[in-house]
Amino acid sequence: MRCAAIKDGGERCKALAMEGATHCYAHDPRRADERRRNAKRAGEVGGNGRGRPRGELAQVRLELRRVIEDVRANKLGTGAGSVLSQLYGTLLRCIEQERRSAELEELVERLETLERARGLRSTPGRGARPWTG
Ligand SMILES: [Zn+2]
Repeated sequence: MRCAAIKDGGERCKALAMEGATHCYAHDPRRADERRRNAKRAGEVGGNGRGRPRGELAQVRLELRRVIEDVRANKLGTGAGSVLSQLYGTLLRCIEQERRSAELEELVERLETLERARGLRSTPGRGARPWTG
């Protein structure tokens, strides 16, 4: 399912909505606060917007470290440790994909802004949105 957000130019967002959500990572209303914080932080470091879900990644790293320690201390069996490591691997891939999709969307948005500014999209709607049904 596609993200339900409508962008400033009136175009529908092209990113895929997150699972069980109506919006993509970049437009998820539930993440608006987090986004504002991140945007502010990104602005402070140059505004390239990279590494958005930083908090989530840090969280996963902490949890993984705990799992490793538990396996080492024999608090967790190697079987359980192995399953957990697989699940964390999947989780990391999901986070990475979300991040990439958000990055791509941001790039597309910037490109469209540039194109509009240069008058390349002066006639929006004429062949400019092949996806809209
Ligand atoms: Zn979106």
